Amino acid sequence: MKCNIAVIKGDGIGPEVVTQAMKVLDAIGKKFGHEFVYEQLLMGGCSIDACGEPLTDEAVARAKAADAVLLGSIGGNTSTSPWYKLPPNKRPEAGLLKIRKELGLFANLRPANLYEQLKGACPLKEEIADRGFDMMIMRELTGGLYFGARETKEVDGVMTAVDTLTYNENEIRRIAIKGFDIAMKRRKKVTSVDKANVLDSSRLWRKVVEEVAKDYPEVTYEHMLVDNCAMQLVKDPAQFDVVLTENMFGDILSDEASMITGSIGMLASASLNETKFGMYEPSGGSAPDIAGQDKANPIATILSAAMMLRYTFDLDKEADAIEAAVKQVLVDNYRTCDIMSDGMTLVGCSKMGDLIIERI
Ligand code: NAD
Repeated sequence: MKCNIAVIKGDGIGPEVVTQAMKVLDAIGKKFGHEFVYEQLLMGGCSIDACGEPLTDEAVARAKAADAVLLGSIGGNTSTSPWYKLPPNKRPEAGLLKIRKELGLFANLRPANLYEQLKGACPLKEEIADRGFDMMIMRELTGGLYFGARETKEVDGVMTAVDTLTYNENEIRRIAIKGFDIAMKRRKKVTSVDKANVLDSSRLWRKVVEEVAKDYPEVTYEHMLVDNCAMQLVKDPAQFDVVLTENMFGDILSDEASMITGSIGMLASASLNETKFGMYEPSGGSAPDIAGQDKANPIATILSAAMMLRYTFDLDKEADAIEAAVKQVLVDNYRTCDIMSDGMTLVGCSKMGDLIIERI
């Protein structure tokens, strides 16, 4: 298979971690007979320096022409970098907002799983951590409260603020379909999270999810209220497979889920549109404090590349091979500094990439 990938290395540790992910993809290509063709694009601070803006229209057009985007991270030190003296719409982060919008990425996927070898970093009670967990938080990204009309005005002499939460059935249906599709590639369970005891938008959400569920008889699904879900995530995270939810609930729950894994350098993410197209990136930022020192953990980006193989290219076997190699490197006691503990072997970013490739 020939896969055309737009690569945006970005700023800070971005170039270091993306280079490792590309090395891993090339190893997969060699082993399984695929060709990965990369086109490198600029976004973020590096694009401001080279082109005077965080993302050019030409870069957007080239990203759209690819099958998928592999992104590192963008941005610099927000206190000291000259990029942050620019107006907000000219800063590195404006590039990220623009590309998400231009590519129509409405479904955000954030896996949260606990590796047996990193259980010590999990802040939950030992008996809960011992059971492990492996879930996918699926968040609607372009609707709901964050995109509805808002205003602040004086009403009868009192300052009053209004935010509106709107979802139409089409927006709910397309994310629900993605959620059930992804459950089919996993353990075939969907927990749809809402606040249907209070919100009309949640009642519509529930109705549409039930309609979509009829097309997936192999998938078991349940509804859960968001306040209960926040509790269940710390009480019994092992119960979850795919957690399907709207924008604001997903924003909060995905951070809660990533926190209980205890290691940001391990967390992949993906944002998808209605086709197989997706943008894949680590959950963390550009880590300017360790940039250029070969200290960054490349695993989140390498696992994001595995997600790209699974969800854009349907190369499940190849994605499995990457995930198994990552597990094995941990079993063999290699660690980057962010996940280092007593008795382990400390390695840098590039060496970690090499060790994973050896295990593929
Ligand atoms: P950050 O995630 O970059 O760093 C937080 C801490 O986690 C730092 O100590 C860093 O060293 C560590 N860390 C993060 N990723 C790591 C990795 N792969 N390996 C080892 N350690 C890692 O968050 P921040 O410091 O708040 O933000 C720094 C910059 O990143 C800012 O400019 C911010 O706007 C940007 N940012 C970009 C994205 C993105 O590109 N999607 C996301 C978040 C933040």
